[in-house]
Formats: sequence, structure tokens, C-alpha cells
Amino acid sequence: MTIDFLQELANTLYREYSGRFHQLQIVFPNRRAGLFLLRHLANGTQTPAWAPQVLSMSEFLEQFSDLKRADNLLLCFKLYPIYKELMPGHETFDQFYAWAEIILRDFNNLDQACADAEKVFYHLKDIKALENDDLLSDKQKSVIQEFYGSFHEHKALSGHKERFLSFWEVLPQLYKAFREKLLQEKVGYTGLIARSVAEEGRYLDVPEDKTVLFCGFNDLSKVEEKVIKQLVRKGKARVFWDVDVHLLKPEQEAGVYMRRWLKDEVLGPTFPQQIPDLLSQKLQENIQLTELPLEHVQAREAGRQLQEHFAEKGVSDDQELTRTAVVLPDESQLFPFLYQLPAALEDSTVNVTMGIPLRVTPVYSMLDALLELQKTCDKLEATLFHYKPVTNLLRHPYVRGLNPELTYRVLQEIEQNSKSYVSKAELQEDAQLAVIFQCSASGTGLGRYLLEVLELVNRQFRSGQTAQQTLEEEYISRTRTQLENMLGTAAEADIEISTDLLEKLMRHLLQQLTIPFTGEPLQGLQVMGMLETRCLDFDNLYILSLNEGVLPAASDEPSLIPYFIRSAYGLPTTDEHDAIYAYHFYRLLQRAKKVHLFYSTNRTGGKQGELSRFVRQLLYELWPDVKPRQIHLNAKLATTAALDLKKEEVLPALLKYTDNGEQAITLSPSALNTWLHCRTQFAFRYLIGIKEPDEVQEDVDSSVFGLLMHQVLQSFYEEYGEGAEVTKESIEQKLDELPLLQRVIAAHQKKSGVVPFLGRNSLPLHMVAEMVKQALEVDKAYSPFRIVGLEKTYDMVIDVPYGDTTRTMRLKGHIDRIDEKNGEIRVLDYKTGKDTRAFKTIPELFDRETKDRNKAAMQVLLYSLLYAQNNKEMVDGKNVVPTLYNSKELYSKGFDAKLSEGDDKLLSLTEAQSEEIEQQLKNLLGEVLSADGALDQRKDTTGCEYCGYAGICGR
Ligand code: SF4
Repeated sequence: MTIDFLQELANTLYREYSGRFHQLQIVFPNRRAGLFLLRHLANGTQTPAWAPQVLSMSEFLEQFSDLKRADNLLLCFKLYPIYKELMPGHETFDQFYAWAEIILRDFNNLDQACADAEKVFYHLKDIKALENDDLLSDKQKSVIQEFYGSFHEHKALSGHKERFLSFWEVLPQLYKAFREKLLQEKVGYTGLIARSVAEEGRYLDVPEDKTVLFCGFNDLSKVEEKVIKQLVRKGKARVFWDVDVHLLKPEQEAGVYMRRWLKDEVLGPTFPQQIPDLLSQKLQENIQLTELPLEHVQAREAGRQLQEHFAEKGVSDDQELTRTAVVLPDESQLFPFLYQLPAALEDSTVNVTMGIPLRVTPVYSMLDALLELQKTCDKLEATLFHYKPVTNLLRHPYVRGLNPELTYRVLQEIEQNSKSYVSKAELQEDAQLAVIFQCSASGTGLGRYLLEVLELVNRQFRSGQTAQQTLEEEYISRTRTQLENMLGTAAEADIEISTDLLEKLMRHLLQQLTIPFTGEPLQGLQVMGMLETRCLDFDNLYILSLNEGVLPAASDEPSLIPYFIRSAYGLPTTDEHDAIYAYHFYRLLQRAKKVHLFYSTNRTGGKQGELSRFVRQLLYELWPDVKPRQIHLNAKLATTAALDLKKEEVLPALLKYTDNGEQAITLSPSALNTWLHCRTQFAFRYLIGIKEPDEVQEDVDSSVFGLLMHQVLQSFYEEYGEGAEVTKESIEQKLDELPLLQRVIAAHQKKSGVVPFLGRNSLPLHMVAEMVKQALEVDKAYSPFRIVGLEKTYDMVIDVPYGDTTRTMRLKGHIDRIDEKNGEIRVLDYKTGKDTRAFKTIPELFDRETKDRNKAAMQVLLYSLLYAQNNKEMVDGKNVVPTLYNSKELYSKGFDAKLSEGDDKLLSLTEAQSEEIEQQLKNLLGEVLSADGALDQRKDTTGCEYCGYAGICGR
């Protein structure tokens, strides 16, 4: 029978150290393995006994050191002044920070490898001095160029190189001075602490009566190797390896380290006489490989297989549950998996050991929106906020909960009025929202503001009545602590934090932070990352995301030291990284009874959609009969049945458009155009009353474009007043008094409540000004004329047959401009779309089957009819002329705004034409009102892609 590595270790301890556990220091690659070992030890005895001391490697080494491990940010702060002294220049800490992390990582690697830093850097400088750039990878070259390019963007590559070479010159001094400073201040990073302990031989101070057991190690840094070997030589330590015969074969990537230690004269003898051969004896029928077309369905399929497993075994079997692990090499699968937990496990303990990355939590998205909000503050002198961060914040669950009513109201106003900016006063109506919607000072002031907002939103979750509330409070508290530490560390190092730096540091630190789930780690189903599995064994394994690029993950940690130098000096490279993960994976499989492996064929986000080479190798070498089981998704798309709206269902709404006891709701020419375009769309908009979704347009979109043109022309002629004469000279004079662009800006301000920035948004504003200019050029050519009316609304009643009787309906139209010249009254409509002025006959304007029916012409003809009907005396003896200023043709030479019917220009709306239009109108309204005919969708789907109801009409 196969025994777990830790169980076997516990058995050995009972056999060889019974009653002397207190004399043992047991060192594991991570602390978690120690917890499982202690459980095995506890299970093996009925009487109380001292437990051995369990440590991680870094804890073991730190006990011999007088250096305190320092926070990485503090180390960056400490490195900066030394760097400035050695490389005088203008680099701010902000610019230096990203590189400080790379330098620190390299220093750490150098110390872990006990490498001679001076040699490494001088060696590298010599190579660079020879300009042998081929030795650097493209990525390293671009990292280096970016490094100096970010400081001196105007400098050419030679400048970068120059600076680069001098940088390499100071790196040894930087390393030396930094090390001395840290040793003096009694702080350090992991590598420095380990190296100083190893170099000073302090680890040999292990008390006489103590024995150190190093258990479950595979990859050892030079420092660790040195310490372990020395202690073994002195007879103070033993090593327990977890190794399989299969890994010792020369071609095995996973066995790189084990083969090295086996050959070592000190470590070799610590291997067991009999090395287990578990992998090659594994039964192939107990391996199941599932191939899925999409990443996220892996979690669902794993959940389904788990459900099946527990349905068979019974969840009440705690032992079975605790012996089952779901391993997620890709942390983004955590939430999908938790949401797919089998129903059978709902009441069971599920132990998540990998933690939640803070960047996927709501608190991170809130901080993101807060920072965005503060950026818009500066530019607008703290009285207005850009709608985007305001919308993001008001929709955020933490903020919405503070005052749902006010947040809803403000959001509605933003959407309905297409507001680009929201006033601070409006948002500050609520005392709590006032804390959020204020402009903070920069730097540390911004830090305090964020802390204040976090404190505010956290109050909602303090009661912690539900698991979700407790979790939310945990996210917020952790974030606060991190932010407080960051501000405290900066203050301690006397570094002034700018707004940019604060944002950079905060994003960087929070992105790395994971929030551990708390709970009883030894019970229940285990959900873990690959590294958390070290030294542990499970009977049932479910391993997801077994794809190249995930296992092994691409290791692209930036470094200033190229591959070949890292390799030559024993610093870790990608080769070691892959070998380490191969070992974790193979080791985990050794003792499992049932293995469920999942991968996806989807290529997204840099993932390759290929099976991990680790699995491929196993299939080739040991499991030739295991074939991937392909799961296909049912590709049948859910379809929405086409709507079948019946007139009788909406009859009450329809009758509201008739004088039915109350005065009828008026119909506009554009409503009639909608009826002709699509009856379903008409029903949604005018009968059922479903509003099309409003999208706030940040840029001046086409509808706003037309609106601005109307507004500018209207206000331009309003300055004349009705009845006034317009001449070429007066137009020019007005344009001199106030240029068109300023008029457009004023119109935009009136509409959105804010003066637009003349940056990215200014092009459409210039275009509106240009269009209005052209309309005025046309007016100048037509002048002199008299303004009769601007933005006038008229209506008329029409009796429409309804069954055996008639019903009265009302048509209403809003006319942009009416002007007069020499007995010609123009009814003018401005159009900014693709409209033209030509049509064939009046009946075809009212026929939905007409190809490219001229909607604009129908509209202006109806306006002209409305005007003529309502101003009979005024038009008596004059010509009423329907006219369009359509942008498509406005620029054509000799532009004439009149419509043309067939080959003839429409010089005036004749009586016969008016009667014809009225008749067509009557027929059309009769069709709207009649009981026959469905409210059906368009036959031809052209235009459906722009329809706001496309999602619900079933088309
Ligand atoms: S999507 Fe097409 S068919 Fe449906 S309501 Fe809109 S225009 Fe009519």
C-alpha cells in the first residue's frame, strides 16, 4: 500500500525519535506541510507528547541572524539615495521605483546563489563595453533602453548605451554600499539574511541536543545547499527526500535537482536505499484526461466530475473529502470553480488555501474609480467631475449602498441628459457621498482621502452578518492596512509621495496582494495552487488548466542580468523555473489513486491552447492508453422567438392617439416614419413605451452633432428676432462679433452644462462650426430675406375611418425655420445625416415598400402642410416652399434648398399636392388605427443593427 510522504515521515519519527520530538527542528519548503505532519503525529499517539518545532527554510535561517526582514518598499526607499549619490541625475523616485524592484530581485538572486556580485557586474560591463549586444536578448535590450529612455526620452540609443555602461560601472558599488547600509541598520532581504548566516557560519550554532530534519526539498539555492551540507557533515542534520525512480532518468526535466543531489558526495548518501517507483506503476485506468473547448468550462466540468465522485462515495465521508484536492495552476480559475461547486458539497467544508488576488475584488475596482475621479478634479477647479468615474463609483456596490436613491437619481440624469460632467454640489447632497466626491490634495493627502473612503464604506460591512459581508470587510481591511503601511514606510524613509507615485505604488502593491481564506486547513475539500501542494499527497486529484503557458507558466521576470551570465554564476534561469514546476507536478501524481486532468484548446490571453508538455511526456512515457476525452459544447444558440405583437393587445394604448374622451396624443412625422420603417419598433416606442437604452456619449456623436447645428443656427437668428430682415452684411457682422466656434462651444455648454475641453473632443465641434458656416454661406447667397419663425410647433386634426365610424387623430410638427422672400415662404428643415432632396412621387413617400424612401422629404412636406393649414391668411397668395438644408448636398455649387419631385423642382406646395399629402396621411393613420394587420417586424433586416430594440424583438 502506498503511504503519504508525510505519513511515512511521521512513522519514521515515531520509530527513531519517540519521546524526543522536542529535540527536533523540522524544516520544510513551506510551513503548510508542517501542519499536516503534526496532524499525522497527533493521530499516531494517544498520550500527550511535545511536538517538534516546524519551520520554513527562511525561518530556520533567520533564527541565526540579527537582521530583520524588511518590506520591499522600504528597501526601495533605502536604495534610492545610494543610487542618486552614485549616479547623479534627475531621476525621481517615481521613475526609479520600477527599476528598483528589478535591481533588488537581482541582488536577492546574487546572494541566494552566493555569487560574487562584483565579478558578475564587471563581467557584464566588459561584455557591454565591447558592444557585443548579441549576447543580450531582444527583451533585455528593450528593458535597458526603456530604463534610460524613461529618464531621458530625447536621447538617442548611443546616449542610452553610454548611460547603461556607466550604470553597470556603479552597480557593484551600489550593491556594496546598499549591503553595508542594511547590515548597519540591521535589516535585510531574504537573500542577504541567508547569505550572511551562511558566510558567518552561524547556523552551526544549532544546540547540541537538537537535530535538524530537512524534509521534502527539491530545488536548493547555493546558500541552502551549503547550510544543509555543512550540518549533515557535522552530523547535526538529516535529509528526507521525496523522489521517484522515474524522475532520476537522465531525460527527465523534473529530476534535474534530484539527480544533482544524488551524485553529491554529502547529499547522495542521504537518499533512501530503496527509491520508490510509484509513477510507472500507476494504473492507466485511474487517469482521466479531459479536453475542453473553452477555459471557463473546465471549472464546470471539474465540478460535475466531483459531483459524480461524491455521489458514488458519499460526502459524509470526511476522510474522502479531506483526501481530495482541486489544484488550480491558474489562479483566475478560483472563482469559476467556487461558483461551480457541486451541490453535494454545499454543506461541506471547502478549504481554499491559495487566497484571492486583491485585484479581482470590488475594493480594487473602487480604488481605481476613486483615482480616476481625482484625476478629473484638478482640471476643473474642483467644481465638476467627469461622468465616467462618477458613473463607475455610483454603480459600485460599496458606494451605491450609501444612498441608493440619490445614486439612482444622479445616474438617471447623466444618462438621460447625456451629461459629460456632474457638479460636485449635486453629489455632495449626501454627507457620506460628500466624503467620496471631493477633491483631495495630492500625494499623502490623496492617501488620507483613500483611507477615509475605505473606512466609510467598511462601516456597511462591520456587522458581518453574512459570509459575504465578512469577506468584504476582510478585503477592505487588508487594503487599508497595506495603504497605511505604505504611507508609514514612506514617512519613515522621508520620501515625499507625489500623486503619481502614490498611484503607482498602490496599484503595484495591491496587485501583488492575495487575501487568504481563513478556516481549518486540515479539513474538507482542498482547493489550492500548485506551490501549495508541496510535500502533500491526495488520493483524488483534479488538476485544471494543464496548458502550455500555464504549467509551466512563462517565467519572464525582468532582470538586468542576461541569461548566459545568470547561468554561468548559478543564478536562477527559466530552465530551473520549469524544472521546479515539473517536479511539483510529477511529485503530486506519485501517490494519487485517481487523477482527473483538464485542459482547454482555447487560445486566449497569451495561453496557447495546447496540452502542457509535462502531461504530454507522461502520456508518451507511461500512459500511452490514456486518450483525451473531448467534451463538446452544445453549439445550439439560444434563440429569442420573434415577437408576435397583436394590435388588440395594445389597443388601449393605440386609442390614446385618438380623441377618445380626452384629447389625442399627437403623432409626429418622425413617428409616422417609424411606423413605415418597422411596426414593431413603433409599438415598442409609442405604444408600449419602452425607451431605447441611452448611452452617454463622451465624444460629440452624430445625434449631438445635429442638435448642436440646430441650436447654433437657432440662437444665431434669434438674435435678429422674428420679422427682422437678414442681409449678407448683417450675417457677416454677427460672425465678426462672435465667431462660430465660440457659438458652438456655448451651445455645447448649454446642452451638457460644461465648457468642453478643446482637446480630443474639439474636432467634431470644429466640424459643427464648419457646417453652420456653410449654411450661413447659403443664407448669404439667398439673402435678403425675412425671418418668419424659428422652432415653431404646429398641429392639425385628421378624421380617420375606424370601423364604421371615424376617429380624430392629431399630427404635430416642429419646424426649424420659416423665412420669406419675395412672396416665397420657405419651410426649412436642417438635416445632418445622409438625406437627399429628391423623391419620385408623393404616394411613394408613404409606401413602406419604396426602396430608399425619402423620409426627410416626407417630413418637410408634412411640416409645410402643417404650416399652411395653420397660417391660411399669412400664406394667402404666396408660395409655401418645402426646403431642406441637408449636409450631404449643402456644399454643392449653386445649392438650392428646394425639393424635387421626379424631374421637377418643387417651387411651391400646390393645393393638389396638399390634398394628395392629406389623403396619404389619412390612409396611413387609418392603417395605424385599423384592427387589421400585425405589429410585425421589418421584412428586410437593413437598419436592424442600429435598432435599440434588437435584443428584444427576436429579429
Ligand atoms: S430590430 Fe428590426 S425588426 Fe426589430 S424592432 Fe428593430 S427595426 Fe424592427
